[in-house]
Amino acid sequence: MDYEDQLDRALSETPDIEGQSQRFEVPDPEVRQEGNVTVYENFQDTVDALGRVDDHVLKYLRNEVGTSGHIDESGRARLTGEFDAGRIADAIDDYAEEFVLCPECGLPDTRIGREQGVQILVCEACGARSATEKG
Ligand SMILES: [Zn+2]
Repeated sequence: MDYEDQLDRALSETPDIEGQSQRFEVPDPEVRQEGNVTVYENFQDTVDALGRVDDHVLKYLRNEVGTSGHIDESGRARLTGEFDAGRIADAIDDYAEEFVLCPECGLPDTRIGREQGVQILVCEACGARSATEKG
């Protein structure tokens, strides 16, 4: 069963009251240690789910956990140091909160825009425009 099938199934089994937010699912981080480096195996899947640019997500992740890191040729994120999946998941949740989910309606149908030099989150679902906290 692939992801789409799971999603369809989840949607059809979900009562309408749960609303559209059900379709926003970020995969749990799959991480493993490689020496002093934490390899984030499913980084690209996460970036796809977030609908954002991988460099932007990585930059946020690096700031959140306070380390250096880069994206390797396979699209995995490699972070210097030891970080467990829970720590990474927290950072990704924070990212979604700040750069993906609309603070007004909670839907992920947003894009990052710029207004008078300030970075804003524009919601395609409800039309809300809100400033993001960081640059
Ligand atoms: Zn909205």
